[in-house]
Amino acid sequence: MIGPDCIFCRIVANAAECHELYRDETTLAFMDIHPANEGHCLVIPRAHFQTVFEMPSEAFAAVGATVAKIAQAVNAALSPGGLSLVQANGALAGQTVPHVHVHVLPRREGDNLALNWDRLRAADPAHADPERLAAVAATIRAKIVLF
Ligand code: 5GP
Ligand code: ZN
Repeated sequence: MIGPDCIFCRIVANAAECHELYRDETTLAFMDIHPANEGHCLVIPRAHFQTVFEMPSEAFAAVGATVAKIAQAVNAALSPGGLSLVQANGALAGQTVPHVHVHVLPRREGDNLALNWDRLRAADPAHADPERLAAVAATIRAKIVLF
């Protein structure tokens, strides 16, 4: 599953829509379509790797640098109180999209967010509304520190 068969490769190629936050030579960040929490976003390598096991460590390091940038921006934009980073490898670990990605999950008091949240729907459908996603994306984008 690569190229047109992989939804994240399609997003990288601008062949599928997303609320993009940030893009550099090797990584991409965008809003999750079914947010587990408001502000939930994803960071991926632009190259297709199914899991971390197939990835050179330098490629994962580049994803990590973008994750740090996006986590800072989410924290600055939304002041959630806490933030979890989650990265699943294999169905057993909860991976549903076979293109490496790191979840950036704002955490709020009493959110009771389980790490095996339902990937097929938003915890709160209002958070998945495209206009709301676009508005939250703009708030986060404005806080990304470029260096
Ligand atoms: P996983 O279950 O593999 O850890 O996470 C996959 C994530 O990708 C889920 O949170 C799911 O909502 C998100 N996702 C799946 N398809 C799409 C899509 O087409 N666009 C976006 N923006 N997110 C997606
Ligand atoms: Zn892919």
